[in-house]
Amino acid sequence: MTSSRTTKGRGKLYDTILDTIGDTPCVRINSLSPKGVRLYVKAEAFNPAASVKDRLAVSIIEEAERSGALKPGQTVVEATSGNTGIGLAMVCAAKGYPLVLTMAESFSVERRKLMRFLGAKVVLTPKEKKGFGMYNKAVELADANGWFLASQFETDANAKIHENTTAREIMADFEGDRLDYVVTGYGTGGTVSGIGRVLRKERPDTKIILSEPANAQIVGSGTTQGRNEAGQPAHSHPAFEPHPVQGWTPDFIPLVLQEAIDNKYYDDLIPVAGPVGMEWSRKLAQKEGIFTGVSGGATFAIAMQIAEEASEGTVILCMLPDTGERYLSSPLFEAVPDYMTEEEVALSHSTPSCQMPAA
Ligand code: PMP
Repeated sequence: MTSSRTTKGRGKLYDTILDTIGDTPCVRINSLSPKGVRLYVKAEAFNPAASVKDRLAVSIIEEAERSGALKPGQTVVEATSGNTGIGLAMVCAAKGYPLVLTMAESFSVERRKLMRFLGAKVVLTPKEKKGFGMYNKAVELADANGWFLASQFETDANAKIHENTTAREIMADFEGDRLDYVVTGYGTGGTVSGIGRVLRKERPDTKIILSEPANAQIVGSGTTQGRNEAGQPAHSHPAFEPHPVQGWTPDFIPLVLQEAIDNKYYDDLIPVAGPVGMEWSRKLAQKEGIFTGVSGGATFAIAMQIAEEASEGTVILCMLPDTGERYLSSPLFEAVPDYMTEEEVALSHSTPSCQMPAA
């Protein structure tokens, strides 16, 4: 007999939404996991604005407040594939800073709407200009207006928050337990650099596995990235191609990620095709009830690959960066009908009341 579910509250009252960032749960995979291994996902959708980038957003703003780089009431500007913008919009709303975001038109419409709903302005950039274009637009707007550029791709506030929170949470949750693999992708590289700083020192036996899109292997290509003195990219990387894993792999190697490359913070780099990521995102939803986006599915695809080949008792942790709800208008949901499938129409017609016609 199992006892009924009860809860007891969090034992504290929160002064601001920002204090609810982090401490996301590591959740066991049950039906999808091969027998004999323990596979866990760290569900970053539990953050208040539903992605891993909430951590980065609060870190950038609070580090800049402390250093004096950000003045009260000053406008913040940043280039974003979406989740950083949504996180920054939440943080700026809570703290009272105006926010302008630049974003390539190729990212999902719900991302733009969420940022605007949270009070930010969104300046779209042409998709042909890729990530580098939206990035340059943010730099240009900051210079022209004296705004604070959040610089997620270069700032040390990025890896630092993952070192101080994400990595600490992993250390605490797996204390006294095995942890053979941590699997993650990269966008800015903040997650992998922050986790690498801690795990390489404190859990050197844990293998860190990095992933990137199969058609945009900018790290795997071995071609180095040119940068200016501020560490900003000097050009678009030649190995880049547009890929469907939103939030992953911009068309340059960010300075924040360069730390993980230079210090060998990962033991293996495994490419994954975007459609495979979407397939695993669907399976996580339908077989585990775990809702994540394309990058979560792509990371999970690699975690499953490792799990299938792993020896008895292996423990694997897979990062799931955001919620699937951020992809309703994207190819991830393409096969999900608006109306009713044939099977649903048949169900509608199988009893007398409230019948609806076929589409
Ligand atoms: N997945 C998604 C959906 C993201 O938005 C991001 C961040 N851009 C990442 C993964 C990668 O995280 P990081 O920037 O820490 O490398």
